[in-house]
Amino acid sequence: MNTCPACKSKISKAYEQYQWTFWGSDYGLLICGNCKTIFTDPLPSNDVLKRVYAECFDYRWYQDHYTAKYRDCTARVEEYRSWLGQRVLDFGGGVGYLSEALRAKGYESQTYDPYCTIGDKMESGWDTIIALHVLEHSNDPDCTIAQIKSLLNSDGKLILAVPNAAGKGYRELNTQWVWMQPPLVHVLHFTKKGLCTLLERNGFVIKEVRFAERWDANLDCDLERVEQFRLLGSLWGRQPYSRLRLYRKLCASYVSSLRNKGLQKAINKTSTDSEDFSELQVIAKLVAQ
Ligand SMILES: [Zn+2]
Repeated sequence: MNTCPACKSKISKAYEQYQWTFWGSDYGLLICGNCKTIFTDPLPSNDVLKRVYAECFDYRWYQDHYTAKYRDCTARVEEYRSWLGQRVLDFGGGVGYLSEALRAKGYESQTYDPYCTIGDKMESGWDTIIALHVLEHSNDPDCTIAQIKSLLNSDGKLILAVPNAAGKGYRELNTQWVWMQPPLVHVLHFTKKGLCTLLERNGFVIKEVRFAERWDANLDCDLERVEQFRLLGSLWGRQPYSRLRLYRKLCASYVSSLRNKGLQKAINKTSTDSEDFSELQVIAKLVAQ
C-alpha cells in the first residue's frame, strides 16, 4: 500500500522519521523513489478529511485575508490570460476570491469547493478549470482529476498550482516549511515529474510548467526571515484577542502588507535554479477522445 499516488511507482522510503497520531491513527511520510513526490502514509480516509475540514480548518483566516488573496488572484488572472476560455471554474476555491477576480475581468465563473461552498448542483462544460492549492489536499488525486475531467469541455484546459516539493523551502525546513502542513492538511507534495505523470496518465497533455513565488509563501519571508514572519503570522490567532474580528482584520492587513513587500524582494532576486521556487504550476490540455 506504498504506491506513489502521483506516478504509481512502488518504490518509496520514509521521508525523515516523522510520526503523528490523530484520532487514534498513526501517520508518517514517504517519498517516492521515482518522482520524489512526498505523501502521507497511510493516506487519510474521506471521513478523516471531512473531520479535518469540519474541526481543524479555520476558514476565518481566508475571509480575514480576503484583500491579499483577491490581489493574488487578480494577478493570476492576468498571468493565465492566454489559457482562459470564457467560462472558468474555480475548483476547490474556498471562499471564492478567484471567481470574483475572474468575474471582475469579464469571465463567467463559479467556485466549487466540497468542504466550503454551499452551491447549486455543479454545471459541467467549462472551458478552463483552475485549481489553486487544491490537489495537495486530495487523498485520491486520480479521482480528483477524473472529477475535473467530467466538468471540462472535451478540449478544455486545466491550470494547477501546488506547493513545489522540490523547492528550497522543503529542502531546508522540511515539515517546518509554511506550505508543508503535514500530515492531514497537505497530504501530497508534488514535484514537476510527479504532477506531470499524474496528468498525462489521466488524459492530459502538458502545455507549460512554471515556478513562482507568491504572497502566502515565498523564500524571502518564509525562509530568509522565517522567525520574524512566524511571529507576525501568529498574531492573527493570538488568544483572547483573535475572538474580535476587528483585531484579526487589522493583523491580517498589517502582515499582508509586509508580505507584499517580501514577495517583491523574492520575485526580484534571481535564482540559479528556478526549481528553488515555492510554487509549481502546470498548465495542461485535455486530449479530445
Ligand atoms: Zn512517484
